Amino acid sequence: MNDRIARLRVTLEESLLVSSEVNIRYLTGFVSSNAALLVEPDRVRLFTDFRYVEAARGIPGVELVETPRHLYAHLGAKLPGRVGFEAAHLSYDRYEQLAGDVELVPSSGPVEALREVKDQGELELIGRAAGITDEAYTRLAQEPFAGRSERELAWLMEGFLHDLGADGVAFEIIVASGPHAALPHARPTERVVGVGEAVIVDAGGRMGGYCSDCTRTFATGKLPRELARAYAVCLRAQETGLAAVAPRAEGRAVDAEARAVIEGEGLGERFGHGLGHGLGLDMHEGPWLNPELESVLAPGNVVTVEPGIYLPGLGGVRIEDLVVVREDGPEVLSTFTKELAVVG
Ligand code: ZN
Ligand code: ZN
Repeated sequence: MNDRIARLRVTLEESLLVSSEVNIRYLTGFVSSNAALLVEPDRVRLFTDFRYVEAARGIPGVELVETPRHLYAHLGAKLPGRVGFEAAHLSYDRYEQLAGDVELVPSSGPVEALREVKDQGELELIGRAAGITDEAYTRLAQEPFAGRSERELAWLMEGFLHDLGADGVAFEIIVASGPHAALPHARPTERVVGVGEAVIVDAGGRMGGYCSDCTRTFATGKLPRELARAYAVCLRAQETGLAAVAPRAEGRAVDAEARAVIEGEGLGERFGHGLGHGLGLDMHEGPWLNPELESVLAPGNVVTVEPGIYLPGLGGVRIEDLVVVREDGPEVLSTFTKELAVVG
């Protein structure tokens, strides 16, 4: 029996219907846009339709059941009388389709909890994705920024990730220049980068399904004083946050340590998002370094540490590294320089 399913089983109080495609992929390796996995004490069944049946054959320890395309309409009759469901992933429509036949018990993320701790194979894929991302930043830093649009720079970065062997981008690349950099999740626009601006680039590649995530802030020449100061404060906060990443640390406490540096400089209001997030098959997953969410770090977690300071009308800075939580301290995967990189 597959080790991940065995580890899931010991955490369950009743059989679990897994409907998240990412969770099904994690548990079985099977990638599909239409499948459900039923984990019972003594058997595991994978339901999918004709289009995926060939790919789903031969997964060790998993019985394959071919279903019509609207599989939830036919699933109820195959479930045990009482079954857990993934509250975050089963739509209300599908819930209603099942509810007539079975007693449904909401379950809050047992597979996500397992996914937070990465095994060696997962760490290798994330490490490779991070290495490619670093190299892409090295190439990008050799390019002139001024006179090019944000979109053009984003495509350039995407091309580097592609050339270096990434399967794809982990998310839509952010390039935010000048006043746009004051918006934490700005999308690249046709705005042409000027001289003396901060440019935030947030990018990551994907390898074997696993993401990487890295942000650097570039300067096209000398920055206005307030932005240069914001960069220095942000870097200090980032390094403070990194140093606080440790097994058994509360995510909220790691966030607080980094945030205190920014607050100490009177810029607390300008840092309006969490310090970081876990990452794996999903771009954003637990554990969380966030004042609003509860998480405790454990060896094998992979998290980002990404404080930002956003000055409306003027610009912004963000610095983000990817870190593996290790028993003997944080292992930082991102290696591209955090000295303010001045570009053309
Ligand atoms: Zn990012
Ligand atoms: Zn991130």
